[in-house]
Formats: sequence, C-alpha cells, structure tokens
Amino acid sequence: MNREAFVKSVLSGLCAGFCLCAVAATCQGCAYGDGERRVTTFQAEPEAAAESAIAPMPACTLELAVGPNIQTATARATARITAATGCTFTASDDGIPVSYGEMRAVDGGVACGQNANTYDENGIVLTEDAVTVATNYQDLVAWSASSILVHELMHALINQPGQNFDTSHAASGIFAAHTEPGGDVLNADSLSYFCARAACTDFAPEPTTH
Ligand SMILES: [Zn+2]
Repeated sequence: MNREAFVKSVLSGLCAGFCLCAVAATCQGCAYGDGERRVTTFQAEPEAAAESAIAPMPACTLELAVGPNIQTATARATARITAATGCTFTASDDGIPVSYGEMRAVDGGVACGQNANTYDENGIVLTEDAVTVATNYQDLVAWSASSILVHELMHALINQPGQNFDTSHAASGIFAAHTEPGGDVLNADSLSYFCARAACTDFAPEPTTH
C-alpha cells in the first residue's frame, strides 16, 4: 500500500473570536481551513471509522519539547490542565515541539493557535507534529498565551497517534472554537467535551478566567 500518497498534514486550532473583530482591525474573522473540512468528512462516516481499528483511548499524557521563550506560558497551561483533568505532561527532546510561530490563514481568517498532526487515509493520527501560538496573538485577542496553549494542548491530548483525528470543539469555554472575551475558562462544558475524548482522571472545572 502506498501510504505516503494518503498522508495529510492537518491543523486544528483556535481562532480569534468574532466579537473582537469589531474592535481589532488585524482580525478578519475566522473560518475553518481545509484540514478541518477533511476531518469533518471523516467524522461524518462512522462506519468507515469503525472499520479502521482505532486504538483504545491512550493514557492522558504527553511529552513536550518546549521552546526557550515559551516555557513560562507552557508551565501555566500544563498546570491548569493537570489540575482540571488529571492529565499529565513531561519534558522530552523527542516530545511535541511547542513554540511561537506564524499562523496559517484559514479562509481569510486569523488563527491564534494551532495543533498540527499527520494522519493516514483512514483519518488515523500517525504523528503529532507541533503546537504553535501565534507570534502576534496579543494583537488578535485578549487571551494569554497560556490560555491559547491550554486549548491547543487539549487538542494534542485527544489526537494522539492511533486515534481518529478530531478537531471538534465544545460549545463554550476554553475549548470552544473561538476566543470569546472572558471565555478562557476550562469550564464544565469544555471539560465534559474533552473528557469524553481523552482519559481524564479528574474533573475539576476552573471557576475563573486566567
Ligand atoms: Zn481548537
């Protein structure tokens, strides 16, 4: 089988909230990119997904290779996720790179953070490639870099190798699709959504914004 022909690199991410677009000229609104649409197709075909032998839900833990200029934000983000979910992180040079970087525009919109994965022809994740916060996130949203990282690392915890690639979002809170002002809370809605897709060992929603 020529697997290489089917391997796609795809992104899930966090987009600047529509509300901020009225006040921030740099924000052009937001829409999903090609990667999101491809994954929506996979999710709409449950029979195909069932035949592709998805691995059992893995332990909720990741190894991260954190860049030197984003360590404080990452430490805050991972501490928040661990406190709310019990999921854990360790540092490793072989882990997923975490860094600031330029964001790929999605349908003319603006992304604040992205999580890049490679998956095969069945939509099964092969590798986790990068977690990135937009270099210019402060021009786009009021959220902190650590809050953007909470969102992206939650994607990364769900989309571990062997899992069916999933870029869906919760309806509200920090795991919603857009950075609504004041929405940077790991609330019960975001936590419930996440823990249905990752092996949480705790369930402790955050009471306040960060
Ligand atoms: Zn997202």
